[in-house]
Amino acid sequence: MKNLFSTPKNLLFSIAMGILALVINLYPIPFFANVQFIVGNTLTVIVAVLCGPWYALITSMFASTGLMLIWDSYHVFAIFSLEALFLGFCRRRDIYALYGSIIFWVLIGMPIFYLMANIFFELPAEHLPFVTLKQAINSLIYTSIASLLILMLPKLWLFETKIKDKQRRTLSKQMVYFITLMITLSLLFSALYFNFISLNKQQSLIKKNQQETVFHLSYAGEQYIEMHTKVIKNAAQFFTLVNNTSAEQQPLLSNLHNNYPGFISMLITDDKAKIVSATPITRFKDIHSSNHLSVKDRDYFIEAFYNQKIFTSSVFVGRGFGNDAIIAISAPYFQKDAPLQPAGIIEGSLDLKYFSAIDYDFNKHKNQSVILTDEANSIIYASDELNLKVMSPFKYSIHNGFYVTDLQLLNLKNTASNIPEYIYASKELNNGWKIYVIEPFSPLLKQAEKQMLTSFIILLAALLFSFFISNRISQLLTVPLEMVANHFGKLNQNDLNTQVLDESSPREVYSLYQRLLTSKQELISHQLALEETVALRTLELENANQKLQELVDKDPLTNLFNRRFAEHKFTEIRDFCLRSEQAITVAVLDLDFFKAINDSYGHLAGDECLRQVSEQLSQHFKRDIDILARYGGEEFILILPMTNALNIEHHLNEFRIKLAATKINAPNSEQNFNITASIGAITANASYHAQLDKWIKIADDNLYQAKAQGRNRVIVSIINPEAES
Ligand code: GH3
Ligand code: MG
Ligand code: MG
Repeated sequence: MKNLFSTPKNLLFSIAMGILALVINLYPIPFFANVQFIVGNTLTVIVAVLCGPWYALITSMFASTGLMLIWDSYHVFAIFSLEALFLGFCRRRDIYALYGSIIFWVLIGMPIFYLMANIFFELPAEHLPFVTLKQAINSLIYTSIASLLILMLPKLWLFETKIKDKQRRTLSKQMVYFITLMITLSLLFSALYFNFISLNKQQSLIKKNQQETVFHLSYAGEQYIEMHTKVIKNAAQFFTLVNNTSAEQQPLLSNLHNNYPGFISMLITDDKAKIVSATPITRFKDIHSSNHLSVKDRDYFIEAFYNQKIFTSSVFVGRGFGNDAIIAISAPYFQKDAPLQPAGIIEGSLDLKYFSAIDYDFNKHKNQSVILTDEANSIIYASDELNLKVMSPFKYSIHNGFYVTDLQLLNLKNTASNIPEYIYASKELNNGWKIYVIEPFSPLLKQAEKQMLTSFIILLAALLFSFFISNRISQLLTVPLEMVANHFGKLNQNDLNTQVLDESSPREVYSLYQRLLTSKQELISHQLALEETVALRTLELENANQKLQELVDKDPLTNLFNRRFAEHKFTEIRDFCLRSEQAITVAVLDLDFFKAINDSYGHLAGDECLRQVSEQLSQHFKRDIDILARYGGEEFILILPMTNALNIEHHLNEFRIKLAATKINAPNSEQNFNITASIGAITANASYHAQLDKWIKIADDNLYQAKAQGRNRVIVSIINPEAES
């Protein structure tokens, strides 16, 4: 582990980012109900990309601590540290973070999260797939944000450690990634935003709808009670004024009841609380025989008779007229002659079924249910689907758990649960009753999930589409560029005229191509010109070299070869003649009394004489293979290969005679003179001797003889190898 964290800068960076992530994660962004978005993990992704998996693990530990504090669940450590490691290793393999995140959540994240949510979360099973998907989407959001942040803040790259086998990414890969990133983020945000708006609208619509229902129902309820209270009050006044007997009261009461069917039953008592008249009469007759005629113990009697007020009771079970739950409205009536002395009460039992009628008649939202409670919180009426017992206390609990919403939520069935069951609105009626309009919460939740699911599916489709489109767009640039690069990479002169770019390639690339082409053409013509110049210079150099060689090999005055060349060439000539067993003649020629020429005609005339003698030599010994050289002063050496021993002396004499007959003009004067030469020579088989000196020695001896015998003569020694040996 020591090696892993060897850079203290990176370690500090990952810890600092972790602490920041922890703080940010403490404040998740509430979206709807229990859907929250966490953004602190953005920093974990940044560390994963910049510093690799192990630093990311550190950051993720901090970030997860923040999540653990708000979610109260340790699972976050497992899932998010796995994510951080995965993204870090993806970076090592040069896989972009967004792609890495998609791979992680599809293959590892979602299955593990779903499993853990099943075990640890107190959520209904049907919400789990949604919560899991939401977590994956959440991760895509913070990964995209992290990637963009890294792109926008290139200085962050300073923290990057060496990534093994890091390859240069292609332009198209980068373009596709960043276009995909942009589209992902903008689509995600707009999808979330519009979902958020639409959910808010739906919620306020629900709220408004509920409040309207509550208002209408409570109004209808109040009207109903008020109207019936008025009926009882008026009846009491009427009976006070009329003061008739019970026999007369009965038809009047029946008549009244007929007019107000909202009463389930009505009765009149005397001052002893004994029922004297009642409707419906049929029911009354049924109980007439029994002793249930006194209502002395009833609140409605006590309140009306003794306290002399108009009274509306709580809900209770009636007796005598069947066992319906009823609300009693009662009022005292007085004796005509003693207006302060109650003569009895008149009572009407309200038919609670009326509430069911207004419940069903009212054009309320189909999901809505109604609960009406009296001032003692007993249920007067509850919509059938709720299965609540009339007269039972209305029990509910209010705690939203993690669900963040403007709506009022309550639980009826599972009052201990964290998952809200109903959305409600309530209003207290002016008589102290309370009306509740409720509707189940889960359809809204399902609706929200459905909306988000749909937009995420659209998002995924858009992602694939944008991936494809950005690929195409980037190809517009990269394919022509690559073609140009390939084209110029293997270009030769013949390819210059082949067109590689088609009409669809961008103008900038085409202009780049054109410029490259022009410079390539210039380069090639330049190269050709250069080659030509080099060839020319080489030729000149060769000529100069040749001249130099000639200068080295030749005598400048006579233009014959010099002594060095003759000696060098001799070996070559001898080798050649040796193979074909040919004879070689070496002759030494010395001008006679040359000193006298210099003395008589001047040095220039001597030089001219030497030139003319050389000229004569070249003309006489004209075979290509003959070597004529100036041996020094007025001495010449002739190397004549493949010579005929019988003929050579004659040939040399011919030259001697020709030279002697030649008139030589002294320059800058009219005078001319003759010159003669003495020649000593040796003719022998090439095998005679390898050293030229040996040959010259004999030729020199002969020359000496010729001089001694009076000059202007030729002496040749023909050496027979057999004789020699
Ligand atoms: P001999 O018949 O015995 O050969 O008599 P010679 O005068 O030819 O012989 P000697 O060796 O006494 O004289 C050679 C002269 O050739 C001496 C020198 O002045 C002359 N000489 C040598 N080289 C050159 C040259 O390059 N140009 C001229 N003009 N004279 C030269
Ligand atoms: Mg000499
Ligand atoms: Mg001489």
